[in-house]
Amino acid sequence: MINDFEIERREMVKNQIIARGIKDNSVINAMLNIPRHLFVSDKFIVNAYSDMALPTTDGQTISQPYMVAVMTELLELKKDCKVLEIGTGSGYQTAILASLSKEVFTIERIKTLSEKAQTTLSSLGYKNIYYIVGDGTLGHKENAPYDRIIVTAGAPEVPLPLKEQLADKGILIAPVGSRYSQQLIKIIKQGDKFIDKYSTGCVFVPLLGEYGWKD
Ligand code: SAM
Repeated sequence: MINDFEIERREMVKNQIIARGIKDNSVINAMLNIPRHLFVSDKFIVNAYSDMALPTTDGQTISQPYMVAVMTELLELKKDCKVLEIGTGSGYQTAILASLSKEVFTIERIKTLSEKAQTTLSSLGYKNIYYIVGDGTLGHKENAPYDRIIVTAGAPEVPLPLKEQLADKGILIAPVGSRYSQQLIKIIKQGDKFIDKYSTGCVFVPLLGEYGWKD
């Protein structure tokens, strides 16, 4: 019988997600249902449910499951949300977002990663995801404003175009800090004001682009 990793997935959610304080049942259920092992390369499949980020290709990573859960919980997603994601990567976070919202626009600067994520997500039946290859620090004006924006690479500061493309009462989550360590920032837009809150420390690969790191 093919191992569908259900036991590993349940253990991951119990020991890494619920035990560390994630309470949002919709996030917990999404992580129980989405087959993370399909988003990692064959070489790392035995570690698909381990408590760590894993290498993908081109020096990039699939984020640690707990970090995916924290960021998703902070986003407070609702079924009618239009979401912008910067950094498609493997597409695992995209799958979680797409299962909890109306539609997801996801931008990745590396074409091969975007194409691979698209293949995986299409094979799982997702029809509410739109893929863009390019510099996500510029956002995606064509479909703005977005109810939620999530940046999954470490930024020196929150890119201005992303703040401009956030809807009123919208929420943006991004890891912000130095190149080697960041803190999650949650921004809530209220009229013409932005309210900033800081959450947990984290380490992400750099957000490269016009409003990110330069190389
Ligand atoms: N959330 C992803 C997952 O679940 O696999 C992990 C994302 S990985 C930590 C960060 C991704 O951001 C990388 O794939 C990287 O190529 C991408 N990235 C970095 N700078 C970017 C930019 N300016 N625009 C779009 N993607 C960018």
